[in-house]
Amino acid sequence: MLLALAAALAIAVLSFTFLLRPQDVHQGAGATPWKHLEGRKASIYENLRDLQFEYRVGKLSDADYQRTKTDLQTELAKVLAEIDELKAAAPAVSPATGQPSRTAASKKAVVANVCPHCNAKFDKALKFCGECGKPMGVSA
Ligand SMILES: [Zn+2]
Repeated sequence: MLLALAAALAIAVLSFTFLLRPQDVHQGAGATPWKHLEGRKASIYENLRDLQFEYRVGKLSDADYQRTKTDLQTELAKVLAEIDELKAAAPAVSPATGQPSRTAASKKAVVANVCPHCNAKFDKALKFCGECGKPMGVSA
């Protein structure tokens, strides 16, 4: 009876974590890429706590406890590795801080490539305008 209960719990826990995967990956497209993984990490920690509780109150045999705990810790390690991978691959800046650097770059390009006297445009920055021969005003 206890064994059957423990097995059912282990199956429920494992199928819960595995079944959740495709859906979570799909939902994670909008926010930070590892947000769904943080959720999974939290649920695994919760499962570990539940498992320890059930073991302490004598609901689980030693073998079942160890086996389920190992399964959960393996799953947890995978999730943590995935989070590390995503954080390493993701740019350090948030979308909000990314914008100023982009506008600054395009502004600099306009100043360097367009003659302030005749408005001639060039592919690259020049000291003197190829059209009117006047110095390209970097100070402009
Ligand atoms: Zn010019």
